[in-house]
Amino acid sequence: MIDQSLVKKIQENYQKTLSKIEDAIEISGCEPNSVKLVVVTKKQPVSLVEAAIAAGVKTLGENYPEEAVKKMQSLGEKSTVEWHMIGHVQSRKASLVAGNFALLHSLDRLKTARRLDRFSAELGRKLPVLLEFNVGGESSKHGWDASDESRWEELLPDVEEILLLDNLEAQGLMTMPPFFSDAELARPYFRQLRRLRDYFRDRYPQVKWEQLSMGTSGDFHIAVEEGATIVRVGQAIVGSRPR
Ligand SMILES: *Cc1c(COP(=O)(O)O)cnc(C)c1O
Repeated sequence: MIDQSLVKKIQENYQKTLSKIEDAIEISGCEPNSVKLVVVTKKQPVSLVEAAIAAGVKTLGENYPEEAVKKMQSLGEKSTVEWHMIGHVQSRKASLVAGNFALLHSLDRLKTARRLDRFSAELGRKLPVLLEFNVGGESSKHGWDASDESRWEELLPDVEEILLLDNLEAQGLMTMPPFFSDAELARPYFRQLRRLRDYFRDRYPQVKWEQLSMGTSGDFHIAVEEGATIVRVGQAIVGSRPR
């Protein structure tokens, strides 16, 4: 049985988030409805995922490949949503990711890229990916270190090799900035990711680089103002995560 009061709560939060996104889009000057809202359900039970789907959620974000695939399997035919992988992927989990997700936000090293390319080839698909960059330079965060703009050139060899992999399709960039209780303080980091995107766009114009995945529960509105095309929101929509 689906918990109807949970469905209603999620529906309210989801709509509220969508409308905050539209307000932020207006400030950014982008087209209405140009931002995709990924609802993050990591560590949440299948029953909650089911409630989120009933509430009208279209895209789910998960951090752990095995946990996500288990959820997909138990939802089976009922699962009409798009699943995104947003967490760090160990290279030995590459086949699970290549086989089960519409988009990988968090490609963070060449070795994983090569394995994903190989598994995607076996599956006969081209896997859409975003490259994750660590714009805050925190050691706890994944992604290529892009905190020092004067060293961006050092990123080019890895990026170039990834762009040459036939079975991956690089669509843009992702970041997880340092956490601030004042969301405004995250703005320079979102800007930094957008500038990095422009830097790659100048060098590799054959790629569209259209997606910028940035912003979570506390700061997605700032991220959208700075050009996010995808935001990843968990707690503000589905409530706090079980420990
Ligand atoms: C957990 C997580 C989110 C969502 O965070 P909330 O605070 O629940 O909005 C977004 N992105 C990544 C990479 C995450 O791990």
